Amino acid sequence: PQTLKPKPRSKTPTTRQTKRALNTRKTTLKKTNSRTNNTNTTKKKANETEKKTNKTEKKTNINQKLIEQIELEIVDNKSPVSFDEIAGLEQAKDALHETIILPNLRPELFTGLRTPAKGILLFGPPGTGKTMIARATASTSNCTFFSISASSLTSKFVGEGEKLVKSLFYVARERQPSIIFIDEIDSLLQKRGGSNELESSRRIKTEFLVQLEGATSPSEERILIIAGTNRPNDLDEAVLRRFVKKIYIPPPDYNARKFLIKILLKKQQNDLTNNQIEKVAKVTNGYSGADITNLTKEAAMCAIRELGKKVETISKSKIRPLSYKDFLKALKIIKPSISKQGLSELEQWNRNYGCY
Ligand code: ADP
Repeated sequence: PQTLKPKPRSKTPTTRQTKRALNTRKTTLKKTNSRTNNTNTTKKKANETEKKTNKTEKKTNINQKLIEQIELEIVDNKSPVSFDEIAGLEQAKDALHETIILPNLRPELFTGLRTPAKGILLFGPPGTGKTMIARATASTSNCTFFSISASSLTSKFVGEGEKLVKSLFYVARERQPSIIFIDEIDSLLQKRGGSNELESSRRIKTEFLVQLEGATSPSEERILIIAGTNRPNDLDEAVLRRFVKKIYIPPPDYNARKFLIKILLKKQQNDLTNNQIEKVAKVTNGYSGADITNLTKEAAMCAIRELGKKVETISKSKIRPLSYKDFLKALKIIKPSISKQGLSELEQWNRNYGCY
């Protein structure tokens, strides 16, 4: 039997159920007390009733609990992201616009041969904006956004992964139009599990494939599955077929890096000239969007660090603006996280399977 391992937070919503269980227990005990002459038999019966009640409650609770857990932890209620905040990735933006945003706006135009794909694979190095662009697609098309990393299915939801997958697609249907974003899909749908594959992982994988097939088959349902991976090479061919569109999410090019640095600098007082921003953009070739974000954050900390103890009392307006020199310091600390070999493998995979 599988046991639920809820996170501490998910224990709270069960208060009502606990009360109900306690009431049932009280009633049963009251009945037992009133029949004093045949105590033993009655107690036995009461115990049995109690056990049965608890069992039934447990059964119904599991789904309810999972649904609550999905609402709490998987439905993404973060503030909306717009495509304008994303640096570069123009082809991916266009593809997602055509696959989900336009069909949501003009469903009558996207029928028959124009029925949009229901499965999209975003592949590329880590930190290049796969999650961000999936979230922006959901924000722009007013879809409920479900975001989960496949590795947490096998770790965080131990023993419950299979039911969770089922409930996830159930909730997505209830709340359509929906986008389910599954990050690190490779950790779930690897080519061949082999004999080392855990039974629980195998069951999650099977359930996921069943649900994926259902959700990506032609139907009126408005559910889009977006999967993210840095290791598309590891994916099973059968799975790849379900993701009709395979879109490469590369590291930002020079223009995208410049754009991203400019967006980030809007959040902090700074005295960088356009020329200096261009220099930073030039030397950050190979950095991912996440690396550039970290670099800018590191640079922004310089003015604070050099204050030493004074930082505890100084007024905010007296802190000097972020400068080009801070970037030069930060560049020594924050290095690109993408390996050259990993990148060339991804580029090769894109040439073989990618849409663009
Ligand atoms: P991935 O899912 O590809 O690993 P994320 O979407 O989680 O990457 O990116 C992590 C963070 O890096 C984002 O929240 C964002 O702050 C920044 N980032 C990455 N790529 C971009 C981009 N193209 N434009 C703007 N910000 C980006």
